[in-house]
Amino acid sequence: MKVDLQEVAELIRNSKNMIAFTGAGISVESGIPPFRGENGLWSRYDPKCLDLDFFHSHPKESWMAIKTIFYDFFGKAKFNAAHKVLADFEQMGIVKAIVTQNIDNLHQAAGSKEIYEFHGNSQKLICPHCKKIYLPEEVNLDELPPLCKHDGHVLKPNFVFFGEGIPEEAYANSLAAARKTDLVLIVGTTGEVMPAAMIPTEAKRAGATIIEINTEPSNYTNQITDFFLQGKASELLLQLEDLIGEKS
Ligand code: NAD
Repeated sequence: MKVDLQEVAELIRNSKNMIAFTGAGISVESGIPPFRGENGLWSRYDPKCLDLDFFHSHPKESWMAIKTIFYDFFGKAKFNAAHKVLADFEQMGIVKAIVTQNIDNLHQAAGSKEIYEFHGNSQKLICPHCKKIYLPEEVNLDELPPLCKHDGHVLKPNFVFFGEGIPEEAYANSLAAARKTDLVLIVGTTGEVMPAAMIPTEAKRAGATIIEINTEPSNYTNQITDFFLQGKASELLLQLEDLIGEKS
């Protein structure tokens, strides 16, 4: 199906309560690979380092991989044009919230404010015991595993590990946003990771229109997507922003 970008821009401009739902694909142009697939992170690292039981029983081994992936590497990534356009849309009053599966902090870095982090955030660390939150620069990652300065417990990155539940507040906010939105912009996700994947589906069930941006068709494309824009997130979002800017 050939999609008219002008028509999509018009829909976005006229929406009343639009949300964005983002996945690893929006950060690929920031140099962060997705987890799965040929060049995915799991082709180089063992996912067991993010298994909660393994983390507790082998904290040093887990932390060695975690430090490389999420602090030496993710920590240096910069937001890209796609993150920036979504932040601009929020400033323009168009995007009301972003529900993200990403844990890279790049929506915040780009200036977005209303962000529901379904899987937490790697750029914070938490003491599982006293719940104190640390920023990476407050922690010495040269000695692994890092320990809480108050009670000596092993710190954990504040994102959702395999075997762990979704943060309650993010879950509740995302579901509420899905139920009242009129337009969902899905960007760069396969829609395979549950329960996050059901957010756009829930919105569709409640009557929302679904626009999707992805380089490849996803689980949503032939199921709930109304307008599929195939291509890179930054290129398509910049084009949409231009079209919206021209009319306003
Ligand atoms: P995924 O890895 O399953 O899929 C990525 C999707 O992005 C694919 O559909 C791919 O076709 C698309 N894509 C790739 N490059 C793109 C581009 N330039 N523009 C638009 N689309 C592009 O990602 P997922 O569905 O988000 O699920 C992976 C899980 O892993 C998530 O739960 C997330 O928490 C986590 N994860 C997060 C990050 C991050 O924080 N940046 C990175 C990897 C994985």
